[in-house]
Amino acid sequence: MTATSTPTRPLPPAATARRLTGLKPTGHLQLGNLLGAIRPLVADQYRTPTIGFLADLHALTVTHDPARVRELTLEQATMLLAAGIDPDRSMLYVQSQVPEHAELHYLLECATGYGEAHRMIQFKEKSATQRQVRLSLLTYPVLMAADILLHDAQEVPVGEDQGQHLELARTVAARFNARYGETFTIPRAVLPRVAHRIMDLADPAAKMGKSNAAGAGTIFLLDPPEIVRRKVLRAVTDSGSTVAYEPDTRPGVANLLEILAACVGGSPTELAAGFSSYGQLKNAAAEAVTALLRPIQLRYAGLARDPGYVRRVLADGAERARESGAQTVHRTKRALGLLV
Ligand code: ATP
Ligand code: MG
Repeated sequence: MTATSTPTRPLPPAATARRLTGLKPTGHLQLGNLLGAIRPLVADQYRTPTIGFLADLHALTVTHDPARVRELTLEQATMLLAAGIDPDRSMLYVQSQVPEHAELHYLLECATGYGEAHRMIQFKEKSATQRQVRLSLLTYPVLMAADILLHDAQEVPVGEDQGQHLELARTVAARFNARYGETFTIPRAVLPRVAHRIMDLADPAAKMGKSNAAGAGTIFLLDPPEIVRRKVLRAVTDSGSTVAYEPDTRPGVANLLEILAACVGGSPTELAAGFSSYGQLKNAAAEAVTALLRPIQLRYAGLARDPGYVRRVLADGAERARESGAQTVHRTKRALGLLV
């Protein structure tokens, strides 16, 4: 499909979509998002129905700038297409364009305890650093449960940071089914086989993230090659000199080996044997990442010239997501005693 055409080939029926991944428009997409979330989604779309959505409602749970959320949502959708999401195979849409997410969110709040939401580690961590905590930060895991249950997703690839939220979705779904009759498919968490946790190059103890403060240790997918190279060459390692894969004692080197392995294939341990210095490893990792990003950045540049096309893809995806979501909301309402 070219950047200027409208999606025409039929999607798999929305109701059979089974694997779901969401990205929050809170910053520019980074290498961890690509390796841990986007690439697995691209690979999965050829074997199972997949759903990718831009979780813009989740971006409102903390202080946000409306113009930036709007901009980042389109940027991220464009990047997902550039990275290989095929709208004929995957359902791709923006969360707020499918009101069934918010509708199911409320219905599920009626099956979730205050204590359950309050116990979430991420709520405790994020609320501790803010002066004015939004109520939506507390209920965010219930919206996440709605995202998952809306499309009967069976598999949800999540990073370790989302494990507790996924567990809450399972608990709420099971409780609802027991109390009101079989309504929801119980989802299962799956950890990506490789690269489930790319670490920050400047701080190998912290996960690389798109909203990390300075961004010095984050490789953004739109970083030009010279910036990627600079960030990789400056990556924090230990003071040793021989290259070995020892994640517990040498996390910085292990992270570079994992990034390299994710880009070129092979195992980090085997790859380590091919290098006699950190400098060599860094050069190879920089080269591998720029080679991985080059074609994606080229496609991105083409797609970014035609935002109308990207918007059409998203509108088409939202329409299909609404069809699928409306069935779930209908089922849920009936079970709860609504819709007399
Ligand atoms: P934020 O800093 O705003 O939380 P993020 O970069 O962590 O942003 P999310 O939108 O929270 O991105 O997550 C999107 C997807 O990317 C999730 O599936 C998440 O597990 C995955 N992901 C995020 N960071 C990494 C990482 N460093 N390594 C592997 N996967 C990651
Ligand atoms: Mg995150």
